[in-house]
Amino acid sequence: LKPKSSIDRQRLDQNGAIADAVQKAAPSKNHAPPPPSVVIEPGDGGERYRTGPFLGKGGFAVCYEGKLVRNGRVFAMKVVKSEMNQRKMAEKFRTELQIHSKMRHPNIVQFHRAFSFEDCTYVVLELCPNGSIMEMVRKRKCLTLPEVRRLMIQLCGAVKYMHGRNVAHRDLKMGNLFLDCNMNVKVGDFGLAAMILSERDEKRRRTLCGTPNYIAPEVIDKSKKGHTEKVDIWSLGVICFAMLTGHPPFQSKTQEEIYKKVRNLSYVWPKDLECGNYIPSEAKSLVSSCLNLDEDERPEPDDIVEHAFFKMYSGCIPGQLDPACRETQPIWL
Ligand code: ADP
Repeated sequence: LKPKSSIDRQRLDQNGAIADAVQKAAPSKNHAPPPPSVVIEPGDGGERYRTGPFLGKGGFAVCYEGKLVRNGRVFAMKVVKSEMNQRKMAEKFRTELQIHSKMRHPNIVQFHRAFSFEDCTYVVLELCPNGSIMEMVRKRKCLTLPEVRRLMIQLCGAVKYMHGRNVAHRDLKMGNLFLDCNMNVKVGDFGLAAMILSERDEKRRRTLCGTPNYIAPEVIDKSKKGHTEKVDIWSLGVICFAMLTGHPPFQSKTQEEIYKKVRNLSYVWPKDLECGNYIPSEAKSLVSSCLNLDEDERPEPDDIVEHAFFKMYSGCIPGQLDPACRETQPIWL
């Protein structure tokens, strides 16, 4: 590893992990450059954070660990260039800050603060050190029924909370479901979230958003009546299918093919799973209730947790998951 500049060299000397991160991150021109070793919140008594290892990057943010110098508490710090050259990205980020900062729930990534330092904006978030459900499913291929039950119940709690506060997340997917140190689900990335307005007409949102594999039919067909928070329930169906089988139900090579399958509700449960799991009819019925083309027919989060899927085998839902299950299938006694 050859640091390019003296600043990089200094970082390498102080903290090998950061220098490593600089390489892994390979930020594009839209990403913020690697942060300095200490970032300082402006104003009197502004907090100081020592930057730590690189955690990951998204469409426009890079994320590093940040340790509050005052007490050693560790957070995730999302770093975004303050001057964003693309209007859409700037909007996404504004929405994220506005909505995420108002959320407070045990299954939603806790937002702590946001501030500007030098040329970047830093968002200080609860650290989720166990990655995302996406990474877990990639490694494991598919998850066991007790794991899926626990993750779904936590997810439903978060969705009920958001919808109860008139917030639709609109981009629920495995990559946005992070895991804390105790393997609890934490919903993150509120960049596409929206406030659902009270009047019926305004309730209908017409912007095309979401990730193709998880997108609800009413979002694709803008000519139809628009869409509401029920898009999140569709996504819950997609997530549940994906956790059980290892791939989303409408997976295809092109976006057009995905949309076609979504419109025709054309998905197939695999017969033999690589992981050897068996998918019970209760799981299929839960997923099909969420994947209803008619948004009004989709269940509420409260209905989902009452589904027979959660009552099978006397309702075996683990009280806790071991972080080892990110890599290895647990054996349930
Ligand atoms: P974007 O808004 O650009 O899509 P994300 O919110 O997806 O960015 O964050 C980018 C990456 O940073 C994630 O994929 C993940 O690896 C990491 N990350 C984000 N938030 C956290 C967190 N709270 N704890 C740990 N890692 C995180």
